[in-house]
Amino acid sequence: MSKYALSIDMGATTAKCVIFKGNDIIGDFVVETKTMNSLVVNIKTRFVAKCIELDIKPKKLSFVALAVCGIIDPVTEKVIFSANLNIKDYDIKSEFQKEFEVKNVSVMNDAKAAVYGEWASAYKRKPNSMMMYTIGTGIGGGIILNKALILGDSSGLPSEPGHGGGFQTKYKCNCGLDGCLEAAASATAIELQINEVARKSTSELGNLYKELGRDLTIKDINPLFNNNNKEVKDIFIEALEPLAKQIAIIQHVLDAEIFVIGGGPSLLGEELVNIIKNHIDKYILNDFGKHLDVQISKTGFSSGTLGAFEFAKERFKY
Ligand SMILES: [Zn+2]
Repeated sequence: MSKYALSIDMGATTAKCVIFKGNDIIGDFVVETKTMNSLVVNIKTRFVAKCIELDIKPKKLSFVALAVCGIIDPVTEKVIFSANLNIKDYDIKSEFQKEFEVKNVSVMNDAKAAVYGEWASAYKRKPNSMMMYTIGTGIGGGIILNKALILGDSSGLPSEPGHGGGFQTKYKCNCGLDGCLEAAASATAIELQINEVARKSTSELGNLYKELGRDLTIKDINPLFNNNNKEVKDIFIEALEPLAKQIAIIQHVLDAEIFVIGGGPSLLGEELVNIIKNHIDKYILNDFGKHLDVQISKTGFSSGTLGAFEFAKERFKY
């Protein structure tokens, strides 16, 4: 008998939903993230419609796997807090259990899901250790150690490399701490810096800004980045230095097999990795640096849905 599963990556603006038959993706759809209550109902409605299209019965669902952009209680699987989804102490698991009439619902942080997806899908569970950064509105991250996802043993909340540690002195973070990595190097922070420079620029970057007549995104400046535009390059070189410092520290402690860079800026490819690596060289001992492997994510925007699915698959013996 065929088994089916639904995996959902809930981000700040959209919920990416993927339907699996066995281990194969057979359908997907995207639902806008507005308010949580209508979101669960909206996903169910779209899921049922997709099931009719695919000629499968919604009741045959083995599990729902959720990757959520927020802090998740590892025991209750409640969303303790999500700034992007504007929810606090929200029992998302029960909502999905009720709406989908399925007992098996798994909830995990989206950055943890991303590293699990990259490790399990792109690397076929082979590396013994891996750290992945997801660079978006903020900076999330997760670690695989001894082929297992680190879930935390004290607070149970690890996956927040974007906060703490004072990695830069220029920007204050929304979390209230000084010097957080994400205040300088998140996609949102980088785009703020790009637009600040673009508004005053009298060269290509300024021309692009005037031409489009709106704030620029990382996607917009991709061609300038590839053409080695100095203004654009300098922004990334400055913004990514705190990230390089953090990777250097983690590598001295963890000696991980691979570091992976995911999220929006990863579309800039190898040159982004080169910028990060050039900085790391200043902050790492040669014995660690010569073995360091930094890669762009191979699963791209699918890492969250793949990871939530792969993780739940193990858990529910799918
Ligand atoms: Zn912070």
